[in-house]
Parts: sequence; C-alpha cells; structure tokens
Amino acid sequence: MKVIKFGGSSLASSGQVRKVVDIVKTDDARRFVVVSAPGKRDSADIKVTDLLIQLYERKLAHKSLTPLIEEIFSRFREIGEAFGIGEEHLATIHLDLEAVNQLPIENNPHLYDHILSRGEDNNAKLVAGILQAEGVNARYINPKDLGILVTDEPGNARVLYKAYRKIKKWADSEAVLVIPGFFGYTEEGNICTFSRGGSDISGSIVAAGVKADLYENFTDVDGIYAAHPGYIHHPEIIKELTYREMRELAYAGFSVFHDEALMPSFRAKIPVVIKNTNNPNCQGTKIIPNRDQHEKPVIGIASDEGFSMIYISKYLMNREVGFTRKVLTILEEFGIGYEHMPSGIDDISIVIRSNQLDDELQEQLMRKIAYEIDPDELRITHDLSMIMVVGEGMRQRVGVTAESTAALARKRINLEMINQGSSEVSIMFGIHKEQEKLAIRTLYYTFFD
Ligand code: ASP
Repeated sequence: MKVIKFGGSSLASSGQVRKVVDIVKTDDARRFVVVSAPGKRDSADIKVTDLLIQLYERKLAHKSLTPLIEEIFSRFREIGEAFGIGEEHLATIHLDLEAVNQLPIENNPHLYDHILSRGEDNNAKLVAGILQAEGVNARYINPKDLGILVTDEPGNARVLYKAYRKIKKWADSEAVLVIPGFFGYTEEGNICTFSRGGSDISGSIVAAGVKADLYENFTDVDGIYAAHPGYIHHPEIIKELTYREMRELAYAGFSVFHDEALMPSFRAKIPVVIKNTNNPNCQGTKIIPNRDQHEKPVIGIASDEGFSMIYISKYLMNREVGFTRKVLTILEEFGIGYEHMPSGIDDISIVIRSNQLDDELQEQLMRKIAYEIDPDELRITHDLSMIMVVGEGMRQRVGVTAESTAALARKRINLEMINQGSSEVSIMFGIHKEQEKLAIRTLYYTFFD
C-alpha cells in the first residue's frame, strides 16, 4: 500500500491533472493521495496559495474579496470543467471560498492559516471529484476526520503523536482517500498549517500513520540531483540515499522535499521515493534507512550561501569548564540558532545564518561575548557559503578530505573552515560566497564523471 503526494506544479492545470489521474490509476496500491494547492502554470503565474495570501491581506484591509475569490475559483473551475465533473463539486468549492467573507478578523489567530488551507482543501475536493469522474472509487477526506492532529502553532504546526493512532484506523479504507496537504487541526478544532511547502509533511505523516510500504512524492524533477543543476550541466540523479545523507544534503539550495517531511517516514522506517509527474517511468530517487552498497564515497554535493562565522579564541579554553555553554547561552539570549560549531583546543567557530543578525544586533552580540568570555581573539566573518560533501561510503574510504582539499587548492579556493561532521557521512567546507560555484564544480568533477 502506497501513499502518494502531488506537488502544486503537478496539479496546476488540467493537462497536469490528467497525468496525476493516470499515475493514480496505473497502480492499485496507491490508496492515499495527498495534494497541494494548484501551483504555477508557467513562470509568470501565481500559485493559488499566494493568491490566498493576497485574499487574507484584502480581508484585513476590509476590501472587497469578490474579484479575488472569483479568480481563485476560476483556477479550480478550469480544471474541473476539463474533466466534466459534476456541478455539485464546483458549487461546494465556490461556497467554501465565499465563506472566507464570514470569517471573523478579531480574536482569530487562526485566520491566516484557515484562509491559506483553502487551496489544498478545495483541491482535494476537486481531485476526488475528477477521480470519481474517471471511474476511480475515490473520496475526499478532511484532515480532521482523518486524524491529522497538530500543535497550536499557526504557520508552523507540528504533528501530535496521537495523530498516528487515529490515522491508522483508515489504513483499510475501501475508497482511495484524497487528502489535502499542508494543514491539520488542533485539539480545539482550529486549522493550523505547517510551514510553506508543507504538503510533503502531510504525506509523510499519512504514510507513517497507515504504515504504508512506500511514500511516493511526485514533483517536477526526475529526482534529487547530486549537485545543483544551476551549477552543473546535467548532474547525475541520485538513485538511492539514506535518510542521513538526505539530511546532510539539506543545503542543496534547490528544494525538492521539505526539511521537516523526512522525520515521520524516518521514524516509521517507510522508504520515500521522489518521482517526476512529467516522467513517471523514471525511477526517481529513493530515500531509505540503510544502504550497503557504496560504489562511490560521495553521493552528493550541496551548498548554500548566507552564513556568518563567529570566531572565538582563548588560551586554555579547554580547561575552562562551561566555556561553550556560556557562549551558547549568549546566543540563546539573542534568539540566535547555530548551524555548525567546529572547535579546536583553544578556539571555537560558530556558524550562523546571517539573516538572524542586523548591524545593531551584531554590535550588541559581539560586545556581550567580549565582555563575558574575555577572549584573546574575537571576530565575525560574513558572506560565507557552506559546502557539504556527503556520502555514507566516506567512512570506508580514506582520503576523501584530502582529495577534496587538494582539488580546491588547485583552483585556489581559500578554505575558511573545514568540519568533518560527527556523523562521518559529510565534510563541510566554509568558503567565501564568490567561490561557491567554482568550488561545487571542482568537487563535483572530482567525485563524479
Ligand atoms: N501550498 C502550500 C505552499 O505553497 C503547501 C505546499 O504546496 O506544499 O506552501
């Protein structure tokens, strides 16, 4: 039994939905269909979720919602009519969108989430109607009825553990269930969405709940690339990777799968496959718990820019009990999270996302560290990119770091920092952002043909 999720670009037009219908029909094991809201039909188009954000803004400004509601409705109508679905399906969607007029603005912390969720909710009703018209025994199910219970954190909900037990009850459903992605319900019955792109998370939760054999995530690329296709011409598609490798590749800079979506499937040990709606016969990328075959030491190279590094050096740091705790407490006081923290005997570097700082905050932070830690040396470097060279095969092969640094040195790429992750499945290089592209190309051609 499989859970299958389609992203917005797979559901943007009737032509795309036709492919989705065919994919659902070709495999009886596809019992749970999770959908995003309709995405962009072309690069100039606007995603339905973004139109709904505009709708929310208009509502707050007490402006008329009718033209925008009609525009959003037309997206659903166009697709529905192409399949000749019953009028009643479209009427239900229209009514639901019109009901946004009645939602209270005051004392309603869930208003934004409620409006945004209309994209997925109505799309699930639409897709269920289309599948029925195409002869599939399918039906829409609301996340509340399904049991997707979440924390009361608008825009950033997390699944509650008890949700899985509730979802499990649906595992033997006769009908193919069409489920809106992106949101769940709090215990008080309010709608809370996951973070943007969160339909991937819904699919993973459902897969874990019904104990699926596979979670198929359909998107618009053939799989996960071994490096960013903007940097490498036709990079290899990774056929199989472990959850850990996937996590380390999170800095891919091109997102095909939501960061938070891995956890539910990972805990339930359900393999995930990323596939292309436009090329469903391509085997895609499979994410699995373990991988024994390590033909190559490196499976992928990821990078991201926008990092800053705080460097602190203090003689005999190693003897000063609680040194790191003090530094981290300061960061915590300023509400700053860190990404990496390589250290030496007398020094420590803390890599953070630069967007957490502005000039004033940086000034205060550095002052506080200087005052409380009394370091011999303290500085902050900006405009860094992090490059991750990832692969489980690295543990068994000596010299991956040496090969990488030698290749980078040949291209005169200056390394601000190297960190061999404690998981031993990655090596991280901190470099100046101007050299990111060159570094990725250099490393890619060192480890791939
Ligand atoms: N429609 C939502 C978004 O655009 C969620 C999703 O597509 O996964 O963020």
